[in-house]
Amino acid sequence: MLTKQQTDALNNCLKCSICVDSCPVAKVNPLFPGPKKLGADWLRIAQEDGSRPSPLIDYCSNCKTCETVCPSGVLVATLNQLAKNEIPAQGPVFRRRLLADPSFLGKMMHIWPGAGNAAVRLPAARKLMEKTLGVAAQAPMPAYSRQSLRRRLAGRRSPVSGGERREVVYMPGCFVQYNKPEIGLALIGILERLGYRVITPDFHCCGQASISNARLRNTRRFAGHNLRLLRETLTGGRALIFTCPSCLLTFKEEYKNILNMREFEQFIPQMQEAGQFLLEQREELQALLPARAETYPPMAYHEPCHLKASGQGTPGLFLLKHLLNLPITPIEAGCCGLAGSYGLKAEKYRIAEDVGQNVRDAVFSLEAKAAVTECGMCSVQIHGLTRLPVYHPLEILGRLLNGGKD
Ligand code: SF4
Ligand code: SF4
Repeated sequence: MLTKQQTDALNNCLKCSICVDSCPVAKVNPLFPGPKKLGADWLRIAQEDGSRPSPLIDYCSNCKTCETVCPSGVLVATLNQLAKNEIPAQGPVFRRRLLADPSFLGKMMHIWPGAGNAAVRLPAARKLMEKTLGVAAQAPMPAYSRQSLRRRLAGRRSPVSGGERREVVYMPGCFVQYNKPEIGLALIGILERLGYRVITPDFHCCGQASISNARLRNTRRFAGHNLRLLRETLTGGRALIFTCPSCLLTFKEEYKNILNMREFEQFIPQMQEAGQFLLEQREELQALLPARAETYPPMAYHEPCHLKASGQGTPGLFLLKHLLNLPITPIEAGCCGLAGSYGLKAEKYRIAEDVGQNVRDAVFSLEAKAAVTECGMCSVQIHGLTRLPVYHPLEILGRLLNGGKD
């Protein structure tokens, strides 16, 4: 049963096909007929005759490019994800369980992260994973940190005493929690230097991975838990800050558009991407910056698709380029292809790699020595394609504020 918003989304389609021309998967995969033919057109027909969508809808990576470019505001990618839930489950059962819940995977890997990291580097183990789990042996895999962000923050006392007006809530997301806590620690360090106390409630995975992997029951469960935490912590006008664009998009748009959980709407004005929040305080930030001794090599900036879809602009790029005057150039090469867990799947790995060629070529054409992006899985893909180091903007900003030390 479609909500009114979803029905309006169907009826607003102009049939201009801009979404089809812009879809990165349709460009490289002739089997995928493109955004509108599957999700949107199927829903229109299914409303009349109850027919099921084509299993080809599973090729949609949920990158959201179609939704971003649609001149008529049709929620194309959203409708595609709803359609995915109407086809028979795709891929091995345990893979669906793992990839749809990165926090479950993160907790498992953190039982013994050294062993997990070593295993994914062993060609024999990767081949076995491909055979049994359907996870591509050649796909780039994120490394897991030795300790989660939660562990690293346990027992730590904030140097700032707070008061509700100077407190913010931080949603780190699974990548920061289990793979790269340094991003979260950089944000917390910067905010504390600006006089904010940072509250880090025990958020569950946002659910973006479960949306893309057609497990909406999980998404609803995660959203319910996260909503309870927002009600408890977002008092007194506190901001809710995100370092992951996909988490931001899920909280701002997906809970409402896909799950029809309107309760999140009241908190949307308090949700901010970290770079945007810092940009609003650029004068205080500038006052904290030491005279710069280090010189930086040329860097390429990749805007994640979900940051584009969340309509925040590129505040991280602005901070690095205009506040810090670093040699960084945006590449504007579209989707990196990985799309969360999409490019990890054996049957999708080649598609993801083909989609990512534009990003790889653009980085190399700049002769960049490093890349910068806000999305953790984009950073995994760009590193896999270029072998260059890839940073979150806050890692660079945090390092500069620390006078060049990590
Ligand atoms: S871009 Fe929007 S309006 Fe145009 S065909 Fe696609 S869904 Fe319809
Ligand atoms: S979400 Fe991305 S992959 Fe899916 S149809 Fe839209 S543009 Fe294509």
